Amino acid sequence: MSPFILHDHFHEVNLFIFFIIFVVGVSFGSFLHSLSIRILNNKSLLHGRSQCDECHKELFWWHLIPILSYFYLKGRCYFCQKPINIQLPISELLLGVLFILYFIQFDTENFIFYSIFSSLLLICFITDWSSMQLHFPVMFLMMVIGILFNILLNINSISFGLKFSVIGILAGWLLIFSINQIYFFLRKTNGFGEGDKWLLASIGSFFGLEQMIHIFIYASITSALWGLFILTIKMATIKTKLPFGSFLCFVSFFMPLITVYT
Ligand SMILES: [Zn+2]
Repeated sequence: MSPFILHDHFHEVNLFIFFIIFVVGVSFGSFLHSLSIRILNNKSLLHGRSQCDECHKELFWWHLIPILSYFYLKGRCYFCQKPINIQLPISELLLGVLFILYFIQFDTENFIFYSIFSSLLLICFITDWSSMQLHFPVMFLMMVIGILFNILLNINSISFGLKFSVIGILAGWLLIFSINQIYFFLRKTNGFGEGDKWLLASIGSFFGLEQMIHIFIYASITSALWGLFILTIKMATIKTKLPFGSFLCFVSFFMPLITVYT
């Protein structure tokens, strides 16, 4: 298939459906961002209305409209004028765009699974980037989704299925564990965070061994480039720790779209 033709049914899908998918994506992004902040602050996940992180005033309904409210409020809280976390509109836009790209690329079942998995990845992306924290229950859920995905959608395939998923989990976990052991032996400190091995394991459960290794390599390259960049602009020193988990998530968002063309 020519890389310039995105999908055979592309021209049959009308713009209205794209708009709905985008709105669903940005709304999920908005919800998952506030969920991640609540996870980080150990707050109740479902109760309580959305409030400003700084002045804790309850937000009006129109402050919660994804992307538009951020620009209308010029990136500041309506009440206290403190800057709104830039991660919020980025998360919204990212998920909106990803949902559309997955929708163009995949059939309905694959689209649903990739969207759910990326939504969970977004939580890890945000918590690791903001506080170097990865939460096990989120990653456990990702492993379950990964296993279900490979069992349900590849029912007639010998090379996928449960074995494919389990090998991905074990290999992801072992890869980071072994590198960390060597690193610790040489430098007497951990090279990776405790959560990274569970994150790579859950990525392995969804993508399988081969793609998981590709994701690991690309994430290592992008995090090294990012490290060089923030060193150059003097935002960091050589000792600054990078949220490697966020880079794993970032590469995983786009991996399904890259591999189709290679
Ligand atoms: Zn405020």
